[in-house]
Amino acid sequence: MKVHECDAREIFRRHGLPVPDWRVAATADDVAQAASAFGCPVVIKAQVLAGGRGKAGGVKLVYSLEEAAEAATHILALNIGGEPVRRVLVAPAVDIARELYLGVVIDRTAQSLVLMASAEGGVDIEEVAATNPSAILRVNVDPLAGLADWEARQLGFALGLSGSQVRQFVGIAQGLVEAFVDVDASLAEVNPLVVDDAGDLQAIDAKLNIDDNALGRQGEIEQLRDPHEESEAEQRARAAGLSYIKLDGTIGCMVNGAGLAMATMDVIKHYGGEPANFLDVGGGAGVEKITTAFELILEDPNVRAVLVNIFAGITRADDVAAGVIAARERLTQEVPLVVRVAGTREAEALELLEGAGIGAERSMDSAAAQVVEAAR
Ligand code: GDP
Ligand code: MN
Repeated sequence: MKVHECDAREIFRRHGLPVPDWRVAATADDVAQAASAFGCPVVIKAQVLAGGRGKAGGVKLVYSLEEAAEAATHILALNIGGEPVRRVLVAPAVDIARELYLGVVIDRTAQSLVLMASAEGGVDIEEVAATNPSAILRVNVDPLAGLADWEARQLGFALGLSGSQVRQFVGIAQGLVEAFVDVDASLAEVNPLVVDDAGDLQAIDAKLNIDDNALGRQGEIEQLRDPHEESEAEQRARAAGLSYIKLDGTIGCMVNGAGLAMATMDVIKHYGGEPANFLDVGGGAGVEKITTAFELILEDPNVRAVLVNIFAGITRADDVAAGVIAARERLTQEVPLVVRVAGTREAEALELLEGAGIGAERSMDSAAAQVVEAAR
């Protein structure tokens, strides 16, 4: 789950990061009011979950109240990465001497966090990583032990910071790591972390992504969810207990278990097809769940054939078969359907499907080859 900048700022500030004051506004009038409260110049920033707002014209520095209202009107009419700008953040503008990058992500290979810092902040860090990877400094951090003072100091000096700036940097780097661990983040980023004209460090941007699997114990974060982040289909899927991610291919997939869903997509690709979605119906999928899953798959106009691939363990294959049959009867659309079932009560399932005129496959390979052919 992505968190808006204004909410990420709040969390970073709680962990001691030097975040300049801000206000959130939804109209040009409110923006002008905030600008007048702070005094110009102020920066006005689109609050969208997409990145690269600066490049998209969603970040503007203004020097008068008239300019503020004008920029606000412009930004509030923008659409950034398919997302309409509903709110903007207003903050006193900072005079920037240097722009640094600071971020924390998970390093799965090292089974730890990794703190990344670069003297080349402000721009796309992905671009720096691609063109000049040595400009990104990395320190692996144990999430339980946190970042040691000396590690943070070393990083600060490597960024070319002076003594008092390094002291500030230590607090910021440690605070960012703490914030990351505290909210179960998958990414926490300050880009840019700036040195202002007085030589002090300020965190003028805040980006925070949360690990969806941790939301069960992150009640406060869950409250920050922007319902617009998910498509209407994804919201319906989540409500029904399905994991659904739309993709660009032509073969709808309905699978139980995330691992099997991934494997199914691989096999479809192996036979030259393209999956239209990832869909894990989970365990104990009954008629309701399977019907919703079919509806979601078939709403996608790109779908030309559907593969149902069920490995029955605790879930009984004959229950799934009954679900597929009932769901198909409720559907108004006809698309080629290939079913593969294996596992608990497989024979009963095959019999049910056959009785309903649905051919079923025993092997994943032949099912995938068949559905790819049907989608051609
Ligand atoms: P992003 O493009 O979505 O990452 O938005 P940022 O908040 O990082 O803003 C983009 C760029 O706008 C920054 O890299 C800065 O160069 C500039 N910017 C943002 N806030 C300020 C500010 O307070 N003062 C100045 N001078 N520039 C700013
Ligand atoms: Mn930024």
